[in-house]
Amino acid sequence: MAGYVARVAGPLVSAKGLDKPMMYEVVRVGELKLFGEVIGIQEDSVYIQVYEDTSGVRPGEPVEGTGHLLSVELGPGLIGSIYDGIQRPLDVFEQISGVFLTRGIVANALSREKIWHFVPSLDIGSQVEGGTVLGTVEETPTVLHRIMVPPDVEGELVWIASEGDYTIEETIAKVKNGDEIKELKMYHRWPVRIPRPVKEKLYSDTPMVTGQRVLDTFFPVVKGGSACVPGPFGAGKTVIQHQLSKWSDVDVVVYVGCGERGNEMTEVLIEFPELKDPRTGGPLMERTVLVANTSNMPVAAREASVFTGITIAEYFRDMGYHVALMADSTSRWAEAMREISTRLEEMPGEEGYPAYLASRIAAFYERAGLVRCAGSPERTGSATVIGAVSPPGGDLSDPVVQATLRVVQVFWGLDQQLAFSRHFPSINWLSSYSLYMERVGEFYNRALATDWLQKRNQAMAILQRESELLELVRLVGYDALSPEEQLYLETARSLREDFLQQDAFDEVDSYCSMQKQYLILSAILQVHEIMLELVRKGGDLRQILANPIRERISRLRWQREQDLPPLEVFKGEIAKSFFEEVMPND
Ligand code: ADP
Repeated sequence: MAGYVARVAGPLVSAKGLDKPMMYEVVRVGELKLFGEVIGIQEDSVYIQVYEDTSGVRPGEPVEGTGHLLSVELGPGLIGSIYDGIQRPLDVFEQISGVFLTRGIVANALSREKIWHFVPSLDIGSQVEGGTVLGTVEETPTVLHRIMVPPDVEGELVWIASEGDYTIEETIAKVKNGDEIKELKMYHRWPVRIPRPVKEKLYSDTPMVTGQRVLDTFFPVVKGGSACVPGPFGAGKTVIQHQLSKWSDVDVVVYVGCGERGNEMTEVLIEFPELKDPRTGGPLMERTVLVANTSNMPVAAREASVFTGITIAEYFRDMGYHVALMADSTSRWAEAMREISTRLEEMPGEEGYPAYLASRIAAFYERAGLVRCAGSPERTGSATVIGAVSPPGGDLSDPVVQATLRVVQVFWGLDQQLAFSRHFPSINWLSSYSLYMERVGEFYNRALATDWLQKRNQAMAILQRESELLELVRLVGYDALSPEEQLYLETARSLREDFLQQDAFDEVDSYCSMQKQYLILSAILQVHEIMLELVRKGGDLRQILANPIRERISRLRWQREQDLPPLEVFKGEIAKSFFEEVMPND
């Protein structure tokens, strides 16, 4: 039995008379059949958040249940797509409805006409389960799409399509379980609010290498980890996100944009498709999925968008890929939650946000992880989640920031002050942290250099010492510092300028390998130690600092990897330079 609209309050509609409504069930509301989702059931009233503009919808209009939970379509065609918060393709949408979104139209997330070349990889008679790879499709030059058995299917493979061209609506496999035979296509649907099943979550100590020195060396995130970055205006958030998308050593990038001002999202929609993948030279969109909410889209779609994004990310993770999901800004997302909660007249928590704000934020970030994927063959994949927050006035005591910091392990503190002084990326090294530091340190100690973590910590200590000394300078003046203290300031300056700063727009400096990061860091520290010893022995600081090797070090970041001196050779040169320059008669 169809229900009817009882009341309309902006994006929230209450309905009565619906037969057996389910929580999170998709419903079609009104004569226009607007998309909505059940978010509350109370006695005979059902509360529905509607993903489209509800103006004109009147009490008494019909409401129909669909029996489905809010889901996304997962299959070939995802990569390169631009979707709204409930996975309606924005470009197709525009073609169907023009600039003004026509309400109630159904646009498939994945093209039904497009032909894909399917290559089977299993034989008839194989036992399959959810996640088992049936075959592959070359979706883009960079992404080999693994066609998997949907999570809720298992049994014996009784038929599989031969290699050839198919649309996603054609059957490519049949699986028999008891008397039932299921026909599988190249796509399936999955409810966005339910994490996709995995065999197990794994402990991850493998860093996601971003090529950004301040992140990789000082505040690393692991594959499958989670990080939060605040985004004060003009602090370089866009640039850092582009850098992460371009350079992170992941296979697929999912970008979820929740814009505040209309043009904010338009920028993303224009900029992203223009980005080049530095590894292939092709468009970055060949391994990217965009989910975009502009401010003129209803809040409910914004609320759903991060779940749409993470579900798509999990899907590629399940293929055995490393995926990075970026959500910007989760504050806008939380505001959508607040607006809906207010309309539901729920008891407000802090700052008017719903009491479940923290658990909803946790539900999102907890879907990050490195996993043993379901099905065969045995493989691992990861989804790394990076959420931007934009608290009003940059206030970090904001409930969204606080709830986020409780669940994420890494905080990259973008700092407006640093941006003003043109220190980029403007990540504040004193306020940022990574709870993965120890494990990543052990990883690099094994993989790169036994003293990697020790060097990183030593550099950090020098930067901290700098901030204490600068405090002192403010009080008593620079000249009151001892030569040793002055040397610390010099080394800290070198760390800031030759290591922490990185020019995203320079062809070479834009990306820095871990080897190169270690080379620069070691060189700065080696010079520091030698100079410290010389100063302690009574050497003249100005003369010591005049050593041209310091100038060499400052040029390292601009040098191509292949032109860099080998670490051991360079170490020798550094030692020699001091021996010859400063102690000619020693
Ligand atoms: P936001 O998105 O936070 O408003 P942007 O990311 O657009 O800020 O950065 C503002 C400006 O700062 C950029 O146009 C650029 O000039 C400069 N900038 C930011 N990060 C870098 C970087 N890593 N290297 C060089 N310049 C940068």
